[in-house]
Parts: sequence; structure tokens; C-alpha cells
Amino acid sequence: MRLSTRIIRAGHAAPKSGAPLHGGITFASTFHTPGDPMQSPYTYGRMHNPTWTAFESALAELEGAPALAFASGIAAVAAVFGACLRPGDTVVVPSDSYYTTRLLADGYFSQIGVHVRYAPTANSAQIDQLDGATLLWIETPSNPLLEIADIARLSAAAHARGVLVAVDNTTATALSQQPLALGADFSVASDTKGLSGHSDLLLGHVAASDPVLFEKIYKWRTQIGAIPGPMEVWLAHRSMATLYLRLEKQAANALRIAQFLQSRADVTDVRYPGLADHPAHALAAQQMRFFGSVLSFTLADRARAEQFLSACQLVIETTSFGGIHTTAERRARWGGDAVADGFIRMNAGCEDADDIIEDMTAALDI
Ligand SMILES: *Cc1c(COP(=O)(O)O)cnc(C)c1O
Repeated sequence: MRLSTRIIRAGHAAPKSGAPLHGGITFASTFHTPGDPMQSPYTYGRMHNPTWTAFESALAELEGAPALAFASGIAAVAAVFGACLRPGDTVVVPSDSYYTTRLLADGYFSQIGVHVRYAPTANSAQIDQLDGATLLWIETPSNPLLEIADIARLSAAAHARGVLVAVDNTTATALSQQPLALGADFSVASDTKGLSGHSDLLLGHVAASDPVLFEKIYKWRTQIGAIPGPMEVWLAHRSMATLYLRLEKQAANALRIAQFLQSRADVTDVRYPGLADHPAHALAAQQMRFFGSVLSFTLADRARAEQFLSACQLVIETTSFGGIHTTAERRARWGGDAVADGFIRMNAGCEDADDIIEDMTAALDI
């Protein structure tokens, strides 16, 4: 079966007479466990839940390895850091990674004696920081600068030095990019973004091929308690069935919008991995199935960017990305990222691209 067929079936039981196509949610803290609890598939809700099992088996099909769902993307990031890093260890983090990942590295792990080294994502520059490290953290495409790291090359270099490799796969999603097949030890994502794609829940996951590493992540989740609610998991599983459709449309829209922006004299630095002039386009084409929904561009200054965003009728001003609505924000309003005042991060949704381009044209022409 091809991937676009498989994703609709993934994690669901074979059709059974009189049974729903998508099984119901299990809300449970305690399960009836007579006698030896090890004989019971489910015991207590912090350890496992049948709704998680269904979603996790769908994730495993995309990732090519077992996966564990977490309460949020950052809970999944923290699980890999927490399970792998001890005082005295060194982690190599992209200097342009997701802001909260850097906050966690600096604000918590470096405070307990973990050494944090930074290097940019572009040109796989992290390769020069690997000697003596414990964990290499990769994020590709990076958020919000959309730089691309070579997962296979970095993984090989890290493993040659005994360094574990984790990839934050949020921007691409596991449908578009398989970090484990490219050599990484962990594939991590915020499923709040493209994977669930409807801006209605927070969720994350970690996948790992090595059973010892997988067990460490499972233990962390159970002992820290960073578990997802069954409702969120059920919704994400439902939404995942349309991931292929959504990503195909979003990537096509993102490319159309990027090409439109490149035709405007008042817009600079249009960036999208699917554009032939993206500095790492060839590498992105090699390791990604779709180029994703996120693009970025720069307007003259803060005032122009704010004016554009408030003049748009269809493009919604909001943070986050990956959802079915086309959204955008002036990233510098948050601080923490090395971007210009007029830098805009945009998520292409599933609307008709002509409507979005008309809306943007009107807002830019003011
Ligand atoms: C959003 C995001 C996260 C954190 O995910 P939450 O679900 O918000 O906790 C981690 N990494 C990247 C790249 C993200 O975009």
C-alpha cells in the first residue's frame, strides 16, 4: 500500500461488522486487574491507555519505529534531554532552534551541570561541535529560519564519536521526513503543529528504534507524568488521517505564495525549502517528501509588517503553524530569535491559494 492509503488506515483495527471505523476513546485512570497485574494489558492510566496505543501505532507506522505520545511537544523534547543527559554531559543544540528548546537547555539543563554547545543549523555546522558530546540535537527545517541540516551526514559523524542523535521533526512531520531511517536515534515532534493540524490541541511524541533508548523514554514519561489526555490523542489520530491531503495542499500553497512574494519589489528574503534558490533546496529535496507549510519573508520594517498583518482579511495573525488556516506573525514581537523587525513567519493553510494571494496583494498594496 502507498503512504497516502496507509495513513488513513494507520493505527485502526481491521473493519469489523457493526463496529465503528474509528474506535471510541477510553477515559480511564484505573483498569480492573485481578491477580498478577503483569497479566493485564492495561493497569493504570499513567502507564498506558488503549487510545494512546492506537495513536502510537499509527505514529510508529510513519516513523518506522515505536513511538510514545506526550502531553506537548516540549514535554517530548524534555523527555529526550532528561533521559539522556546527566551532570557533566554535553549537548549540542542548534543556535537557531525552537526558542523554548534553548530555554530548556539554558534555563534548566545547564543549571544542573549539563554543558550546552551551540552551532547553526545551516551547512550542518553542528558537525564541528561533536567531540566529547553525549547528545546532538538537530532541528530541520529549523523554526523560524527554515535552515536545513543534513540528518544522514550529522548522524554518521555523531555516531562515529559515540554521540546520540535526536531530530526535532516538528516542521516536516513524520510523514514528510523519517529521521530514524536517516540514522538518528530519536525522532521528536510537536504534534500540536502539522501532524494534528487543526489548532485545537497540544501534543508531542518521541520515536526510537533502539529498545533500550525507547524504554528510557517510556520510564521518563511514566515517572515524570508528562502524559497526554485521551481526548487530545483521539482527536490527533482522527486528524492524522488527512495529513497527506493537508500537507500536499499546504506545500503547494506555500510554494505558490513564496513565488508570489518573490515577484514583489517590497518583499525581501523570501525563504521556503521548496524554492529552487533556497540555499539547501537540493538537500531538502533529498530528505523530505513535502517541503512543508512554513515560509518566511521580510518587509521593510516593523511598521510595514504590522500594517500588512492588520490589513489582511484572510491571513490570520497568530503564532504557531501547521494548521489548515493560513496564518502569519511578525516573529520579532516575541524576542529570542535572530530575525529582522520586519521578518514574517507564515503558515500556508488549505484554502484556495488564489484567495490568499489576492488578500496578501491587497494588504501589501496599501
Ligand atoms: C512548537 C514547537 C515545539 C514545542 O511544542 P509544543 O507542542 O508547543 O510544546 C518544539 N519544537 C518545535 C520545532 C516547535 O515548533
